[in-house]
Amino acid sequence: MEDSRYGTRTIGAILPVMEKWLGRKKGALTFRVTQVVSGHGCFGHYLHKIQREPGPQCHECGAVDDTAQHTLEECNRWVVERVALRAVTGVADLSLHSIIVAMLGSERKWEAVASFCEKVMSQKEKAEREREASADAPPLRRRRQGRGREPMLASSLSKASGYRTRTARPHRRCRGEGDQAFLIPPSIVRVPWR
Ligand SMILES: [Zn+2]
Repeated sequence: MEDSRYGTRTIGAILPVMEKWLGRKKGALTFRVTQVVSGHGCFGHYLHKIQREPGPQCHECGAVDDTAQHTLEECNRWVVERVALRAVTGVADLSLHSIIVAMLGSERKWEAVASFCEKVMSQKEKAEREREASADAPPLRRRRQGRGREPMLASSLSKASGYRTRTARPHRRCRGEGDQAFLIPPSIVRVPWR
């Protein structure tokens, strides 16, 4: 159920603009943009889900559930970054769909979103590393070795779009990371999903 919630958020945001998303000429999905879009990353909600943290709360502001959307839209810690994001994108509501539409709107807006994700996620990751390194970290938080995870975003998006996807692992830094899904534009891969 939690898995489908992640998938639903991401797919619901991209599906209405799937053609444009797949056909875009520019706009690389960075590791940290992928975290915010997929919800698989250094978010309390996700870390709790994969049993890396005892609870889903936000370490930045104390909110009970630190989802990707909380980080993007609500968390008090990122007010300054959010002002910059809104100034460039003109996006008021910061729903994931609005963000995706803005990213597809211009290179400058794409970069503004990427910059927001980079600034915020790098700080969240740094804070997580510090928590993990602290002497009183609960056993739950200890680093686990990599294990295969179902590339949910990749498979969900590819099934929804009819295009195949591949997965890549550009970094292994954040323990919370899922597989990073990169949709291959149809101009590169024309094989429909079977
Ligand atoms: Zn927060």
